[in-house]
Amino acid sequence: MLFERQSFLVAGISRSGIASARYLRKKGAAVYLYDDVDDENVRRMQQSLEEIGCVTVKKEELESKFSAMDILVLSPGIPVDHPLPVAFRRAGKRILGETELAALAIRCPMIAVTGTNGKTTTVTLLEGILKEAGKNAIACGNVGRTITDSLEELGEDGVAVAEISSFQLETLTSLRPHVAVVLNITEDHLNRHYTFENYVYLKSRVLRNCTESEYAVLNYDDPTVRAFAEKTKANVVWFSLNERVAGAYCADGYFCYNGEKVCSEEALPVDGDHNRMNALAAVCAAKLFGVANEAVERGFKKFRGVKHRIQKIGMLNGVTFIDDSKATNVDSTVKAVASVRGESVLLLGGKDKGYAYEPLFDALLKSDVVHTVIYGENSLRILHSALKKGYTNVTLIRPFDLAVRVAFLTAKPGQNVLLSPASASFDAFKSYEERGERFIELFAALEKDYSPQPVPVIPAPAAQEEADGEVE
Ligand code: ADP
Repeated sequence: MLFERQSFLVAGISRSGIASARYLRKKGAAVYLYDDVDDENVRRMQQSLEEIGCVTVKKEELESKFSAMDILVLSPGIPVDHPLPVAFRRAGKRILGETELAALAIRCPMIAVTGTNGKTTTVTLLEGILKEAGKNAIACGNVGRTITDSLEELGEDGVAVAEISSFQLETLTSLRPHVAVVLNITEDHLNRHYTFENYVYLKSRVLRNCTESEYAVLNYDDPTVRAFAEKTKANVVWFSLNERVAGAYCADGYFCYNGEKVCSEEALPVDGDHNRMNALAAVCAAKLFGVANEAVERGFKKFRGVKHRIQKIGMLNGVTFIDDSKATNVDSTVKAVASVRGESVLLLGGKDKGYAYEPLFDALLKSDVVHTVIYGENSLRILHSALKKGYTNVTLIRPFDLAVRVAFLTAKPGQNVLLSPASASFDAFKSYEERGERFIELFAALEKDYSPQPVPVIPAPAAQEEADGEVE
C-alpha cells in the first residue's frame, strides 16, 4: 500500500500540509515536516503535528535525512522549481500534493471546478443546490475544508464539490472527477507558471484522465476552454450566454438546460454576466447529478454571494463602498467594472503577477469608471500601461490606506469607490481577505471622520421684551 511502508516529507506547513500530515499519520505512514519559514506560527503547527508522531526536519538536516524520504508532499504554495522538489525529481522520487492524496483515496463522486475566475462562487452555489436536493455535498479543496479532511464525512454517498487551482494541478496526476468544470481561462499567475501556454496546459489536466463515463462541463464562449473539447474523451456539456448550446444557456429570462426551462434568471441574487456564467456551469453539473429544477431554484435563491467578491460595504455621504478584493487578475476586474451599477472610482494595485495591464485600460476607457487610484508595489507598472493606452484619469498613491481615503475624496455622491485591484495582495497583506478587511476598517474610520455632524442644538434664547424704539 502506498502509505504504510513509505516515508513522506510534507513540505509547507500550512492548511494543506497540516491536512496531509494528519491524513498520512492516520494511515500509518512515517511523516517528516519541513518549512522554509521558521516563525512562531509554523513552529506551533509543527509542535502540534509532532504530538501525533511527525518529525520536524530543519533546513541543515535535509541533506542527511534525504535518503530516508520516499515521497514529497508539496504544498501548492511552493513552486515545482523550488530546490526541494527539484532534488526529489532528480533522485527519481515521487512528488504529489494534498489533492493527489485525496484523489487516490476518495470513494465518492467528485465535481472538480477549475478556471481562472469564479471557482469559489460556482463551488459555493453548487454545494447549496446539491444540499437542497438532499445530497451530502461538501465544498472543499481550495475553498473551505481540504479534500482529505472531508473524505470521512463524504463516505461513499457524498459529492465532493472541489475547487481546484492551477497550483494544485501541478502535482495532480490521478484525478478523475465524475464532472470536470472549466469556467474560463485568462492570464493569471504568470510569475509562477511562466507562460500562458503552460498555465492553459495545467488547467487541461483537470480532465485528462476522464473517459466516456465522465463529463466535461466547458465554457462555449471562451475559445481557450472550448478547445478543451478536443483534449478529452469525456462527454462534453457546454454552457454559454451567447448560444443555445447542448447544455446550459439563458433564454427569455430563464436559465435553461437542453431545451428545458430550469428557473427564472431572477432567482439568482447576484449581478453580472460573469455570475450568470457561473450559475450556468452550476446548472450543468447539478443536472448531471439528476437534481430537480426546484432544487436548483432554491439553491440560487438562498445564495448570498461570497465575501470580498463585489460586496457592498456601505454608503458614506452618497458614496457606495464596494469590496472586490478577490479580483486578483485583470479579467476579474474587467468583469467587476462591467457588472457594478453606476459610476465608480476604482482602486487598483498590489503585487504584480507578470501579466499585461493594457487590456484592463482598454476596458476602463469604455466603462463607467470615472477615475482610477493606483496604489501598491506594482503601481508604476500599472501607471505605465495606463499612460500607454492614453488613460489619464489616474492618481498614484502607493500606501493603500491613503489611496482609499483619496478615492473617497475623489468620488462624488452617487458614485462608488470600488476596490477591485487586478493584483495579488502580498505586497502589503497576508491575503486578499486581509486586504478586504482593511478596506472595511478604513470605511468605518472614514465614516467617523466624514459623517455629517449633527447640528448642535442651541438652546433658544429666553423671549425678550421688545426694546423700546427698535426697528426690525
Ligand atoms: P476564484 O475562486 O476562481 O478566484 P471567485 O468566485 O472567488 O473565483 O471570484 C474571484 C473574482 O473573480 C471576484 O472578484 C469575482 O467577482 C470575479 N469573478 C467571479 N466569477 C467570475 C467569472 N466567471 N469570470 C470572471 N470573473 C469572475
